[in-house]
Order: sequence, then structure tokens, then C-alpha cells
Amino acid sequence: MQGNVNSQRRQQQPRRRKKICAFCVDGVHTIDYKQSDMLGRYVNEFGRIKPRRQTGTCAKHQRALAVAVKRARHIALLPFVAE
Ligand SMILES: [Zn+2]
Repeated sequence: MQGNVNSQRRQQQPRRRKKICAFCVDGVHTIDYKQSDMLGRYVNEFGRIKPRRQTGTCAKHQRALAVAVKRARHIALLPFVAE
């Protein structure tokens, strides 16, 4: 047991900037499902809701956002799946 395994750890770890929740910054309490252009930024090209790790949205607002996106889909403002 001479080889030091720990010597090669943590090599080239990309520094990631701390993302901040855009809704917290704006002081948004309820996310409007009718703002489809805004909601469109939180869904990917397949029409799926982007994960928090991509957008930086906080847990509280991510939940509200998911509800808003689903409502927007229901009234056909957003696609369920990209064509
Ligand atoms: Zn937030």
C-alpha cells in the first residue's frame, strides 16, 4: 500500500459560478402561467422543464414554475412535447 490514491483527486474541477434564482431576484411570489415567453426559457428544446441545476432556480420557485409550465401546457401556451 504505497501508491497514494489521493494525490490524483480533484484534478481539473471546473469552477462553477453560483447561480441565483431569477424569481427571488425579481421578488416574484406567484409565477404567471400566461407569460409563455418567460416560461419558454425554463423548458428545453423537447418541451421539458429544465432542472434546477441548469437554471439556478430555488426549490420554492422551481415548484411554482413546474405548476405554471403545466398550466401553460394545458391551455396550449407551451407544448407537451416538441414536434
Ligand atoms: Zn426563488
